[in-house]
Amino acid sequence: MAEIRIEKLHKAFGDFVAVRDSTMTIEDGHFFVLLGPSGCGKTTTLRMIAGLEFPTSGNVLLDNEDVTYHRGRERDIAFVFQMFALYPHMNCYRNLAFPLITQGTPRREVRERVIETARLLRIEHLLKRPVGGLAAGDRQRIALGRAIIRRPKAFLMDEPLGALDTEFRDLMCQELRGLHNRIDATTVYVTHDQVEAMSMGDMIAVMHQGDLLQVAPPQELYDNPATLFVANFIGSPPMNFLDVEGGLESDLGKARLVGGTEVAMPTLAERPAGNAFVYGIRPEHIRIDDNGPLRGRVFGVEYMGARQVVTVDTDAGRLKVRTGGSVSAVVGETVGLDIMSARAVIFDQKTERALARDTSPALAEAANG
Ligand code: ATP
Repeated sequence: MAEIRIEKLHKAFGDFVAVRDSTMTIEDGHFFVLLGPSGCGKTTTLRMIAGLEFPTSGNVLLDNEDVTYHRGRERDIAFVFQMFALYPHMNCYRNLAFPLITQGTPRREVRERVIETARLLRIEHLLKRPVGGLAAGDRQRIALGRAIIRRPKAFLMDEPLGALDTEFRDLMCQELRGLHNRIDATTVYVTHDQVEAMSMGDMIAVMHQGDLLQVAPPQELYDNPATLFVANFIGSPPMNFLDVEGGLESDLGKARLVGGTEVAMPTLAERPAGNAFVYGIRPEHIRIDDNGPLRGRVFGVEYMGARQVVTVDTDAGRLKVRTGGSVSAVVGETVGLDIMSARAVIFDQKTERALARDTSPALAEAANG
């Protein structure tokens, strides 16, 4: 298996920059997700790793070997485009064996590897069946088997579950992750779906308009987003953003929100240098509490069984609050809101960058409490 490293990878199509000076390491055995909205440069990055596209500048290293200008077939990487691309006239065994047969692999080895792959995917019972009559999940497993049977150094997957309905997609997410855990193969997975990324990735790289914004494990991305974009893109409902009025009174541990309410600040590890700031707080880090400093009117309640999302209009702006299912909130009623300030993230409004929080153990404990 392989470590993939890209260094200052840059791709321009004419004047348009699709990927801007991207640097990251995809560790051996990681399930690494490239996440971002349509057009942000995910596929272009993946194609440069695969050798299907050459960069304008920068390098691609596979196990420390510079493969930037090696053709795709010289890289021993499997690109899984579309999992449903099977040969309909062949049975499952032949579909799995085909990539090896075309490589001239001896018959006995083909047989051993088909059986080994079928065992990994738990599809031994399907080997003699024609692919035509298979259920969608089984077809997907055979298609995946076709990619893993070659034992490439790494797998690249471009929205492989994109065309599936939600229920089946959830199932295939679990299957893919389970398979990854069994074979431990370095995988780079492209998606625009943050839920898919968060549920599968060991590491996630968030891209936006060609820029790589942050590379981090899922929880780190969620708890400590590096930019406003990341904070907004990850989480559903997303983080609430409230404009801070005037400068920050970080020495006093307070921020004054638009509308005049003062709320406590997280402890910062850096001195705020900008002029305008945004106070970010996740919906689950706000409590409905009559003694809370912010007051507002309940605009809507989305009841979801064990929990609910309450939308509250305050002088500082509209906020989403995630509460337990038993908390009663009535549309039109005035409520107080308490903010778990240690979990808030302060952003510089101009650069959109998050200010570093002090994450000393005592503070982290307080934040988690
Ligand atoms: P999507 O999921 O929509 O494919 P993406 O994040 O994978 O989004 P890319 O396919 O990498 O995005 O495309 C990034 C940008 O580069 C897009 O604006 C796209 O139009 C542009 N682009 C990609 N390939 C080319 C090309 N061959 N010529 C010109 N522009 C291109």
